[in-house]
Amino acid sequence: MVVAVEYISKEESAEAENAKHGVTGILAVQGAFAEHAAMLDRLGAQWKLLRDVEDFDDSIDRVILPGGESTTQGKLLHSTGLFEKIAAHIAAGKPVFGTCAGMILLAKKLDNDDNVYFGALDAVVRRNAYGRQLGSFAATADFGDIKDFPLVFIRGPFVVSVGSQATIETEVNGNVVGLRQGNIIATAFHPELTEDPRIHELFLGL
Ligand code: GLN
Repeated sequence: MVVAVEYISKEESAEAENAKHGVTGILAVQGAFAEHAAMLDRLGAQWKLLRDVEDFDDSIDRVILPGGESTTQGKLLHSTGLFEKIAAHIAAGKPVFGTCAGMILLAKKLDNDDNVYFGALDAVVRRNAYGRQLGSFAATADFGDIKDFPLVFIRGPFVVSVGSQATIETEVNGNVVGLRQGNIIATAFHPELTEDPRIHELFLGL
C-alpha cells in the first residue's frame, strides 16, 4: 500500500477528537504508523496517533505497535512516558496488535538482543531473523482461520520458541511468524502494507 500524502499531516481520524471511547491508539514515535492509520480509515475505525503521553487519553481502547526500528521505538517509548501507559493497557488485557518491530516490543524475550520491552507475549523472538539477503520478501499463508493472507516481510523477526500461553497462527518455511495470545495479535509481517484488511478487522473485533 502506498500511503496518501495526507497521512503525513493527519494526527487522528475525522471524529476521533470527540470520541469518548472506541479509538485505536497507533504508536507514532517512529516507523510505519501512517499505513495502519490508512487501513483503519478504510475500515471506518477511529484512530489517533500516540506521539506523547498526553495522547493516550480515555478514548483509547486498543493499541497498534507498528513496524520500524524496535531499539529506537523502545527508547522513545520510555522518554515520552508512553511505555507505562501502554504497559498498563496490555496488563489490563486490552487489545494490542504488534507488527514486526511491534512483535519485538511485545515479546517476553529476544534471543539476539538483551532488551525486553513489554514482555507480554509468551515467546522468544529473533530480530532481523532472515539476515541481510533474505530480509525482505513476500509470501502467502494462513493467519489462523484467515486463509491465504499476503505476507510482506521487511527485515523482520521470527519466533524461535512459543510458550504455552501463545498460539501459533502463521508459519512460513518452517518459521513461526504470527501469534495470538488472548487480546494480543503479533505478526512478523506487515498486514498494513497490503490491501487485505482481514487481520485489522480481526483486531478491531477483539
Ligand atoms: N528490524 C527491525 C527491528 O529489529 C524490525 C523491522 C520492521 O519493523 N520492519 O526493530
